[in-house]
Amino acid sequence: METLIERLTAVRERIAAAARRVGRDPATIRLVGVTKAHPAEVIRMALDAGLCDIGENRVQEAEAKMAALAAERHRLTWHLIGHLQTNKAKKAAMLFDIVHSVDSLRLAQILDRYAAEVRREAQGRLPVLLQVNVSGEATKSGFALWGWNEQPDVYERFCADVEQILALPHLDVRGLMTIAPWTPDPEQVRPVFRAVRRLRDDLAQRFPAAVWHELSMGMTDDFEIAIEEGATMVRIGRAIFGER
Ligand SMILES: *Cc1c(COP(=O)(O)O)cnc(C)c1O
Repeated sequence: METLIERLTAVRERIAAAARRVGRDPATIRLVGVTKAHPAEVIRMALDAGLCDIGENRVQEAEAKMAALAAERHRLTWHLIGHLQTNKAKKAAMLFDIVHSVDSLRLAQILDRYAAEVRREAQGRLPVLLQVNVSGEATKSGFALWGWNEQPDVYERFCADVEQILALPHLDVRGLMTIAPWTPDPEQVRPVFRAVRRLRDDLAQRFPAAVWHELSMGMTDDFEIAIEEGATMVRIGRAIFGER
């Protein structure tokens, strides 16, 4: 049985190799370790191995682990990557360093309100990514953008929401996040990652005042392809922490 450190090292090597294949600097790709269903002690081990970016799906589950790891707060960056219900938005704004899963204008507005209320001055605006669904898979949340390329009204509707989100004073939009559909052959999801990157490039042209740098895409089964297609953050659980 491999140790956590060995698995983490292997993942880092695969990230670096994927980056080099397309001429990217591996240091520009942030590894977010996804620790859902794993206890706080596992996060502590990961931290000791140098993994400081932690992704959690659920606010309540994360809150308990954050409490257990309160002494390490300054070393950890907590990423909320799962769907956020509006009744948990206040806590999320208080606890997390970045929310990847902003998937509606309404959620953004609510998060903005709470960010103003509960975040300390020194924390600044709440960094967020807009989660997009370009594949149309019904089980995935995210702004509905399938066919955005052929259907101008789909894209225009989204842009109208984006415009309002960018105007929210307490959020800091940094890019896009997506979850690709599962397929037996990860190569099949390459067009999904490519479409999200093109969408990001379009948004960067249309809304040049915002910084659209981040592309959070790629998980255990498909992170190398996501990196080849431009991911700046990969969210990896099983390859590091084992099956859940
Ligand atoms: C669970 C999860 C991951 C990590 O998935 P693995 O297949 O374990 O790497 C990444 N992103 C989101 C949104 C998740 O829910």
